[in-house]
Amino acid sequence: MSSVSEIFGSLVFDDRVMRATLSADVYASLRRTIDEGKELDIGVANAVAQAMKVWAVDHGATHFTHWFQPLTGITAEKHDSFISPSPDGSVIMEFSGKELIKGEPDASSFPSGGLRATFEARGYTAWDPTSYAFIKGKTLCIPTAFCSYGGHALDKKTPLLRSMEVLSRQALRILRLFGNDTAKRVVAAVGPEQEYFLVTREMYEKRPDLRFTGRTLFGAKPPKGQELDDHYFGVIKPGVAAYMEELNEELWKLGILAKTEHNEVAPAQHELAPIYTTTNIATDHNQLTMEIMQKVAAKHGLVCLLHEKPFAGVNGSGKHNNWSISTDGGQNLLSPGETPHENAQFLLFLCAVIKAVDDYQDLLRLSVATAGNDHRLGANEAPPAVISIFLGDELTAVLEAIETDAPYRGAEKTQMRLGVDVLPKFNRDTTDRNRTSPFAFTGNKFEFRMLGSSNSIACANIMLNSAVAESLRVYADRLEKAEDFETALHAMIKKTIQDHKRIIFNGNGYDDAWIKEATEKRGLLNYRTTADCMPHLLDKKNVDMLTSLGVFSVDELRSRRDIMLENYCKSVVIEANTMVDIARTIISPAIEAYAADLARAASAKKAVSPALTCGYETGLVEKLSRLLDEIGEKAGEMDTALVKLQGAEDIVAEAVMIRDTILPVMSELRSPCDKAELMVARSYWPFPTYGDLLFGVK
Ligand code: ADP
Ligand code: MG
Repeated sequence: MSSVSEIFGSLVFDDRVMRATLSADVYASLRRTIDEGKELDIGVANAVAQAMKVWAVDHGATHFTHWFQPLTGITAEKHDSFISPSPDGSVIMEFSGKELIKGEPDASSFPSGGLRATFEARGYTAWDPTSYAFIKGKTLCIPTAFCSYGGHALDKKTPLLRSMEVLSRQALRILRLFGNDTAKRVVAAVGPEQEYFLVTREMYEKRPDLRFTGRTLFGAKPPKGQELDDHYFGVIKPGVAAYMEELNEELWKLGILAKTEHNEVAPAQHELAPIYTTTNIATDHNQLTMEIMQKVAAKHGLVCLLHEKPFAGVNGSGKHNNWSISTDGGQNLLSPGETPHENAQFLLFLCAVIKAVDDYQDLLRLSVATAGNDHRLGANEAPPAVISIFLGDELTAVLEAIETDAPYRGAEKTQMRLGVDVLPKFNRDTTDRNRTSPFAFTGNKFEFRMLGSSNSIACANIMLNSAVAESLRVYADRLEKAEDFETALHAMIKKTIQDHKRIIFNGNGYDDAWIKEATEKRGLLNYRTTADCMPHLLDKKNVDMLTSLGVFSVDELRSRRDIMLENYCKSVVIEANTMVDIARTIISPAIEAYAADLARAASAKKAVSPALTCGYETGLVEKLSRLLDEIGEKAGEMDTALVKLQGAEDIVAEAVMIRDTILPVMSELRSPCDKAELMVARSYWPFPTYGDLLFGVK
């Protein structure tokens, strides 16, 4: 392997390459587009396209594609080759500015939730110059946004860019009030920690449930699971280490700052964390990371499972979205400062987040809602579906002192009068790493822990950026009009704490007592499933906020609700069909074969010695027969429930039926199958068990 610094970014048309291959004028003009969002003229685009093509062809590329993120949650690409015929019969490699800036994929099959009638097949893709182009295989990939000709966003990138823009605009208003005249932009940055499972390809191929749905639909608890906690941060097995090594290399080539890797709590579970970067780039990179994880696994005879809950009874996989906001000058606005002045500003941004999370709990919850993630949130696993914020003791004490006009119980015992000049310096509380909180302050950033491992991080960040922008807008509106800034600031911070302190919780988020307190005493929302939360995307307060900020139009919101619910319904229906199929055609025959052999063995033994009771065999045959009956009955119930589903009035009603009829029957069908697994001889069981899968990678 060449040195890391040699390979890092070697497949990216990044700033280094731009500087080296573009004329000074073109470079400066492109930089203005990237940094300030200035429009790009076609002359510059042509020059950039030319340089990009030469560079890409030099690096072995033959094709280019507009790489985009439709609402399916994965990425899409349609390749065009650079070739263009030349009069002498040969070809030349061509790529114009027009082709760089805009593409027209035939995108009629991407979900649009009614935003684009299918006959109006084409949407268009538009270059996002803030995310660098890169080479994947033999293709130059150009990150793009995807819109309909009517101007509706058909993707996840467009609203994400809009949310970053509004957050920047509102945060700058606040910074100006604190006397900062130099900042030009405020940027949200994200470091997403990605969890995943590795299983051997050989075993994976033998499990139709994994192949069709990404998770096991059957499987008895293995004799050893995660109870010893011996996997977390444990020694990495050679097969996994080789995988991680190649994964890192491939990610580095793409300029992805893969940094930390370790084993997770569950056996066969691992984590990869990159160094944080701009939300937009972090989102592109996370999509690429998930793709490369799967590709590299295939080369190692492994399969990377990104499903949120591949194994029942074993920890699921999430994605921790570490989020902070900084000025273009590099000042982290969520970092407690050195001076009272900085601290007052910090407290205001902190309060903006507290208010945002409380006001828009539902949006944050639904931004991570999928059929897969429902198995983590709202089940007995971390984090719960109830959203709360962990602040740590020190910061909580500071807020309490402000709220009650009491002296702060820190070292200086100062009255917390939040005039800009008197706020004492307080310590960052990074010691208490509360792992059970869905939304934890970790010293200079917030860690939103509810994302599912397969989620695009775009959705969560769109909602987070927008909700915080809304808090800042409310604050700026008031403060800009205030006669006395310091008095108004103090009053506003105090009021935010009074109004929103219910969302702050530093205790154990797994505790049942907390869920009771949260919902009954504090009135916090507890949407356990996608069917429960998704319809609230269209609640008036949410539509008002998101449309007034210009992040979504009403039509875009409606389409997203429909697509997310459709996705939920389709995923569960595929699981239900797969279950019935496996139960009838694979599991039942295996149980039957074993029971029949047992019965034959019993009668053979009785023939030899009539006095034998053969209690073991007959008892087991009886039990297995009863389980077979139960499986048949539940599979029949599922058939009926699936037929009924077709009568659902609309997508909301269908989702509710999925939640109330399909999912319960799925667990009832699973139960006799899992019981049988523990009674049937291993040699008869038709596919690898949990024990095989979880401990199979060497
Ligand atoms: P842990 O598992 O202890 O929470 P990791 O090191 O696995 O921590 O991941 C922390 C993530 O937070 C990394 O992706 C890191 O780059 C990111 N991060 C660190 N500082 C910031 C920040 N200021 N803003 C956003 N993300 C950050
Ligand atoms: Mg980590």
